[in-house]
Amino acid sequence: MQVQAHNGMYIDGAWRPAAGTGTIAVVNPADERVIAHVPAGTAEDVDAAVRAARAAFPAWAATPPGERSALLAALRDALAAREDEIAETVTAELGAPPQLARAVHAGLPVAVAGSYAELAGSHRFEERIGNSTVLLEPVGVVGAITPWNYPLHQIVAKVAPALAAGCTVVLKPAEDTPLTAQLFAGAAHEAGLPAGVFNLVTGLGPVAGQALAGHEGVDLVSFTGSTAVGRRVGAIAGAAVKRVALELGGKSANVILPSADLARAVGAGVANVMSNSGQTCSAWTRMLVHRDQYDEAVELAARAVAKYVPGDRLGPLVNAGQRDRVRGYIEKGVAEGARLVAGGPDAPLDKGYFVRPTVFADVTPDMAIAQEEIFGPVLSVLRYEDEEDALRIANGTVYGLGGAVWAGDDAEAVAFARRMDTGQVDINGGRFNPLAPFGGYKQSGVGRELGAHGLAEYLHTKSLQF
Ligand code: NAD
Repeated sequence: MQVQAHNGMYIDGAWRPAAGTGTIAVVNPADERVIAHVPAGTAEDVDAAVRAARAAFPAWAATPPGERSALLAALRDALAAREDEIAETVTAELGAPPQLARAVHAGLPVAVAGSYAELAGSHRFEERIGNSTVLLEPVGVVGAITPWNYPLHQIVAKVAPALAAGCTVVLKPAEDTPLTAQLFAGAAHEAGLPAGVFNLVTGLGPVAGQALAGHEGVDLVSFTGSTAVGRRVGAIAGAAVKRVALELGGKSANVILPSADLARAVGAGVANVMSNSGQTCSAWTRMLVHRDQYDEAVELAARAVAKYVPGDRLGPLVNAGQRDRVRGYIEKGVAEGARLVAGGPDAPLDKGYFVRPTVFADVTPDMAIAQEEIFGPVLSVLRYEDEEDALRIANGTVYGLGGAVWAGDDAEAVAFARRMDTGQVDINGGRFNPLAPFGGYKQSGVGRELGAHGLAEYLHTKSLQF
């Protein structure tokens, strides 16, 4: 598929030529073909976009929430009208299988945009505390830096709450998935957002991303990506004393207590890790099983993973670098003494950035494959002795983003979940809730996205005393 791409930046309500001549090739990871080129933005493009966002801020901040709500509803509708094109584009540049692309990559952002259309209209931007009136005011210009793994969701999870709050935005999307970001800009334009309220600069992280994070006209930097880059972005923002939100990596635990329905918990756990080829920051990549059920769980996992055929239900990884990184982790797991019960480091197909769906047994908590984020279709199954041991293992990484607990009844699972150091826990297979706050404990990040908590990130408070 050859994709039509804009050869400019979306700044101040129009597509404009980039300041420089550099381009970024967009590659289909399923067949390694170049499908499009987009401009590689420079600090000059970022500056133009930030100026446009600054200029648009006072009027947008003063726009009544009801009007902002109507424009967000129009944005939701414009995204919904493009669902097919969005799904095809995500398949082309990320490699997501069509069904997943449609249901999750295209469908979820429509729901999130809709949730902020409602919240903009219903949120209380003023509250009374004793003799004070507290005004909740937009922070200002937001610099949003997003990753490629859920290209549109990550954009909408930042831009929609920022706009609902009355902030204006400059977006720097991931270099692997800029086409979805251009589609989003088209939807924002069609929705009728005033010029400068939303701006897009495509480009490389260390160039355009860094220029955006360090720009003095940006009041809040919202970053989603790796912990390594997040640390740098946080340091830059901290030095300038500006607000920062960081959504980073994870190594989430799927804790299966002895009273749980083992087959169900293992099946759901494998599906969770394999979805999006393991490129989900909150994926339950560590399965914790009681020693008495361990062998049975490993067998169930090996059987369940066989359904994920590369090139069919299992897509490729996003690029060659990620594929090599994931294969390197599989080799490391073998070298550290973990037992490979499915998959392995060799290529399953002769083209595309595919990796075999892989399950490791006899993984101990100190191994790299139990501690570090792999970001691929690799599951580590760990054995625990008793509940205290399970808790120590579950909490024993630098991360704390997602997680799951399975038990005979919800109360038992909840009692365990309360003791986990993590931002989200799914109880006995609880469904993803696009209104629930999402974000990390420990090195998984700072701040929350989605729902009213996500909106609050973009608001300042001002107290008036009477
Ligand atoms: P990445 O950190 O390399 O890139 C993320 C974004 O930052 C991209 O837009 C990139 O261009 C930009 N960037 C890179 N270097 C930069 C710099 N020096 N200054 C400013 N911006 C820079 O991460 P990735 O490879 O795109 O994504 C994978 C990682 O993201 C994984 O670790 C994953 O866990 C994490 N992630 C976290 C969440 C979450 O919500 N917590 C969601 C998705 C992905």
